[in-house]
Amino acid sequence: MAENTPPVADMVDLSLEEVRALTLSVLRKAGLTEAQAAPVAETITLCERDGRASHGLLRLPGCVMTIESANFNLQAEPEVAEPSAAVVRVDAGFGYSLPAFERGLPLLEEKAKALGVAVLAINNCFHFSALWPEVETLARRGLAALAMTPSHAWVAPFGGIKPVLGTNPLAFGWPRADKNPYVFDFATSAMARSDIAMAGTKGETLPEGCGLDAQGNPSTVPAEVLAGAMTTFGGHKGTALSTMIELLAGPLIGDMTSRDSMEFDAGEKAAPCHGELIVAFDPALLGGDDPTLNEARAEALFAAFTDQGARLPSQQRYQTRARTQDTGVSIPRALYDRITELGGERATQA
Ligand code: NDP
Repeated sequence: MAENTPPVADMVDLSLEEVRALTLSVLRKAGLTEAQAAPVAETITLCERDGRASHGLLRLPGCVMTIESANFNLQAEPEVAEPSAAVVRVDAGFGYSLPAFERGLPLLEEKAKALGVAVLAINNCFHFSALWPEVETLARRGLAALAMTPSHAWVAPFGGIKPVLGTNPLAFGWPRADKNPYVFDFATSAMARSDIAMAGTKGETLPEGCGLDAQGNPSTVPAEVLAGAMTTFGGHKGTALSTMIELLAGPLIGDMTSRDSMEFDAGEKAAPCHGELIVAFDPALLGGDDPTLNEARAEALFAAFTDQGARLPSQQRYQTRARTQDTGVSIPRALYDRITELGGERATQA
């Protein structure tokens, strides 16, 4: 057992169906419409299924705070527009990003397969979720995909001391015949904000290089970093990537930066609200005359990793998925109790 895993008696076993039902009951109680609640419950269930607890049930209390916040639109209904042959725009209407993605997906696929490349711009969306489910969905439809979104301005640029950038995740998916897609998905901050907060709760210090205190001095104390500034991964390189995400998923698509999002929040502590950019590429159309050769080249690249013992990103998620489909998942009882106090219906066995 990992050092920080609670004893078995302090865990609650849930099937994936129970995770979904519990999540839906909390979201419905908070006043979310069925059309918004279903995709949110789905992504939370997928994260639990794949062992990505940071974006699973742990997010539900924050979802309730967001749903109850002043700027969230309980009546939000995503509106789809087609500004050009290659572009789908979905206005999420100040609801969650996930129903907007769901609504834009068929057109994005259709356009990418007709043109070789297409863009889905989601605007005015509250965003809390992992990006891998979206690029994986596109990869399973035969498309390579990039997804990115800003967040709240918590991260200082390399060489600076004040927060300007978001934790700005970037995800990429690549389709593989008869295999799980190649997918990576990571924040461009050196450490996830939730991991810093969790380290603080446990009284732990942070690795060097994750953040600065309010005076701009390097700090390994979680509370100081949360009150000061986080840093990007990879020094100036991570800062440049994060800046690209601010620009492409912000002003490029007519939406807010992480700084704007934080100002818009006005201290409510809701999830960030801004845009999201998804770009889909069709290898069948872009790859020329010999798809078999292209596929062989990509597979040879992956094999050169695994043959020397390096793992591919998402490998761990796929392994966990293969297990939890049958076994379900275990979550800390304290989290389970917190969720049922929010109105979640208790599972019969728990
Ligand atoms: P991690 O550092 O945990 O993992 C990032 C990626 O790297 C994963 O695809 C992971 O694959 C892969 N990986 C990890 N270790 C290795 C390894 N040894 N070899 C090869 N690949 C590896 O991610 P973060 O903490 O940066 O981000 C976590 C999540 O937070 C993401 O899903 C992101 O979308 C989300 N997020 C969302 C935000 C939002 O505003 N909506 C803001 C910031 C982050 P594997 O899964 O198999 O371990």
